[in-house]
Amino acid sequence: MTQPTIRRAAVIGSGVMGSGIAAHLANSGIPCLLLDVAPAQLTEEEAKLGLTLEHPSVRNRLANAAIAKMKKTNPAPLYAEEFAQRITPGNLEDDLPRIAEADWVIEVIVEKLEAKRQLFGRIEPYWRPGIVVSSNTSGISINEMAKERSEGFRGHFMGTHFFNPPRYMKLIEIIPGHDTDPELVKRMKAFCETKLGKGVVLAKDTPNFIANRIGTYGMLAVLREMAEKGYTVEEIDAATGPAMGRPKSASMRTLDLVGLDTFEHVVDNVRNNVADPAEQALFETPEAVRELVKGGRLGEKSGAGFYCKR
Ligand code: NAD
Repeated sequence: MTQPTIRRAAVIGSGVMGSGIAAHLANSGIPCLLLDVAPAQLTEEEAKLGLTLEHPSVRNRLANAAIAKMKKTNPAPLYAEEFAQRITPGNLEDDLPRIAEADWVIEVIVEKLEAKRQLFGRIEPYWRPGIVVSSNTSGISINEMAKERSEGFRGHFMGTHFFNPPRYMKLIEIIPGHDTDPELVKRMKAFCETKLGKGVVLAKDTPNFIANRIGTYGMLAVLREMAEKGYTVEEIDAATGPAMGRPKSASMRTLDLVGLDTFEHVVDNVRNNVADPAEQALFETPEAVRELVKGGRLGEKSGAGFYCKR
């Protein structure tokens, strides 16, 4: 087994986490490619400028927007604005072959098994032994995602679960699959600790692994209390945030930061994958969250969520 020396990375998915992970890699001196889908429609502004869907700035729109945002968000995902130069934007349709230049490919797309499985099928033709491939899934089975891939690919595949925001959150869960080379897991753990400055916990491939299994359970309990006792979003956050000594983890603010659609998928993942009906019943997405998602209020990323900003 070739051992990983991570000189370059490729991050696929430039949303909340993909952009944060790319920024943290750049902070750590690792150049990376940041890919997302090429848009199927022009924005009004692009149409006014006379651009077409083939224009590079349109095709790379999502990754470009993510890079622009990581420079100006406060607190910024980047240690220094110029580190953005280490990130090369691209799109999946044109630039996927370029992942062959990377030593580590990190999948950070929507939290849906089928989408992730399909993406790994598209990645494999450009994969070569020595490239580590990982998923940032919040809790989808690592073995299920990779089950249609070759033995060699599965040997190099694992979960590397960063927490939000990646610049600040110290934890990474590494989740080996049945076939992941244990030596590679050790090497990735050492790399994440020494080069990325993270604290790594090895987790088993069970629904939502460790931190999210517990965290989701707790968050659902908070949402139930809020609904049953008639508390407001502000009252809940006043009782679960800075006043409790948790400066960044007031509950509803955290949900807005995570993304309510992602939270919904993460809750569904446990309910659909645990055998015990009593446990299934505990992992039910509350109506309040479903309603917000239906209305396109996904949290920070859509400009509105529990906290109304539009
Ligand atoms: P997001 O919604 O912000 O971004 C998802 C990105 O994936 C988007 O840019 C979208 O264009 C792209 N995408 C969607 N469907 C795709 C497809 N079929 N093929 C390729 N690209 C596609 O989501 P996020 O919050 O960044 O979450 C990404 C992953 O990270 C998920 O697996 C999520 O569970 C996990 N995660 C999220 C958080 C969090 O706090 N949001 C924390 C840890 C892990």
